[in-house]
Amino acid sequence: MERDRFVIEAAEAESMAKELGLSVLQLLPSLVKSAQKLARPPISKYHVGAVGLGSDGRIFFGVNLEFPGLPLHHSVHAEQFLITNAAINGETQLLYIAVSSAPCGHCRQFMQEIRGANEIKILITSTETGDDRNQDLIFHPLSHFLTHPFGPDDLLGKDVPLLLEPHNNGLIFDDQNQNQNQIKDSNNVGNDFKIHSNGFHTDHDEEFSRLKNAALEAANKSHAPYSGCPSGVALMDSAGKVYKGLYTESAAYNPSLGPVQAALVAYVASRGGGGGGYDKIVAGVLVEKEGVMVRQESTAKLILESIAPKCDFRVFNCNSSKKMCRKV
Ligand SMILES: [Zn+2]
Repeated sequence: MERDRFVIEAAEAESMAKELGLSVLQLLPSLVKSAQKLARPPISKYHVGAVGLGSDGRIFFGVNLEFPGLPLHHSVHAEQFLITNAAINGETQLLYIAVSSAPCGHCRQFMQEIRGANEIKILITSTETGDDRNQDLIFHPLSHFLTHPFGPDDLLGKDVPLLLEPHNNGLIFDDQNQNQNQIKDSNNVGNDFKIHSNGFHTDHDEEFSRLKNAALEAANKSHAPYSGCPSGVALMDSAGKVYKGLYTESAAYNPSLGPVQAALVAYVASRGGGGGGYDKIVAGVLVEKEGVMVRQESTAKLILESIAPKCDFRVFNCNSSKKMCRKV
C-alpha cells in the first residue's frame, strides 16, 4: 500500500484496514514498504521504514536519514524518526511498531525513554513471510529484544516526565541577555532584536522572531532530564514554513537525538514523498541555556553548514524561569 504522508489519522487508518479486510494492527506491517520508500539514506542506500500505532489510533511513519559530508553518528534511525514524528504530533504513547529490519541496539536503547517501553510491541517485517495479509503476525515486546535494559528508571525519579509525556522546561528569554551571542548592528537598534550585519531587513527580523519563539517552544518540550540542558531548533524553508525540533536525551547518552536532526525529521515528514533537498532550508534558530555543560551550538552549526549551506543560523540563549527543567 502506497503512502506518502507520515501520519495517518485514526479514522483513516480504520477505514484503510476495513477496506483491506485487516485489523488496524495488521495494517501496520502492510505499510512498512511504503515507509521504506520515503527513507533518505544516500550513504548506505539501505532503506529502513518503521510504522507505529499510537494510543489514540493514529499511525506514524519513520524512516532513516543519512547526511553525506557528516560523521555517521549524526544519522537519524527510522525508529528515532518515528518517535520524534509522534512527539511532534502530540502522541503520548506508542503501542505497536512494525519495522523493516531488526531494531539496532542504539534504537532499542533510545526507545527506553518511553514510559512502559518494555511493553511496546515490535514486529520485524523482514522475518515475516512478506504476505501483507498474514494473519499470524507476531509482535514481540521490546523486552524480548533488550533483556536487561538500562534506562530512565536507573537514573531518574518516577515523577520525571519521559519521552512523549508532556514537558514544560520553564525556559524564558532574558531580554537583557538574549542577544549576546549575536553581532550587534547599530543600524538595527530599535528592532525586535538586534543582530547581525549581513544585510537582513526588517522582514527577516520578523521571520527570525517567529523562529526564535518556535525554537523556545521546542526547547520547552525538550526531553533532557539527564543533563538538565534542554534545547530546541526551528528551521525555515524558502516558502517561510517553520519546522520545530526538540532535543531528546537518552539515559545512555550516545543515542540522544540533537535538535537539528529532530527539526529535519519535521522537515522531511512535512514534505511527505515530495522530496525536497535540505538546501531549501534558509534560516535556523537554536535556543539553549547559556553556560551549561551540554551545548548544541557547535554541532548544530556543523550540521547546517554541511547540509544547508545557505541557511542563516542564529543562536539565542534562554534561562530557566522559577520552574526548573530538572527535578532534583
Ligand atoms: Zn537503529
